[in-house]
Amino acid sequence: MKCYNHDDVDAVGICKHCQKGLCKECIEEVDGSLACKVSCVEEVETLNYIVNRSKNMVKHAGSQWNPAIIGSFVFGVFFFGLGFRSEGMLSMAMYIFGLGFCAISLYYYIIKKRMSKQD
Ligand SMILES: [Zn+2]
Ligand SMILES: [Zn+2]
Repeated sequence: MKCYNHDDVDAVGICKHCQKGLCKECIEEVDGSLACKVSCVEEVETLNYIVNRSKNMVKHAGSQWNPAIIGSFVFGVFFFGLGFRSEGMLSMAMYIFGLGFCAISLYYYIIKKRMSKQD
C-alpha cells in the first residue's frame, strides 16, 4: 500500500479516523493510535477521549442495569413497535434498527457482567 498523499512512498500505517494509508512523514501518533498529521490528529484525540470515557463509564457504572443497557433496550423495543406498524422497506429498516439497539444493550450487559466478575 502507498501513502495517500505520496504515490511513490510506502505507507507505514493507517489513520484511525479516515482509514487512509500514510507514510512516515504524513502520520502522527496520538495516544498510541495513528492519525493524519494534517487533518485527523484532533479527530483521533477526540475519538480516543470518547472511547476511554465510555470504557470508564462501563467500568464505574454501579448496577448491572445501567442507563446504557436500559436505554438501548427501550429504543430496540420502540423500533420493533414502529416496524410492526409500518410496511415494506420501512418496516424492514425499523426491525433492523430494533435489532441493532437490542444487540447494543446485550453487548453492554455482557461487558458489565464480565467486569463485575473480575472485581
Ligand atoms: Zn486521517
Ligand atoms: Zn506521505
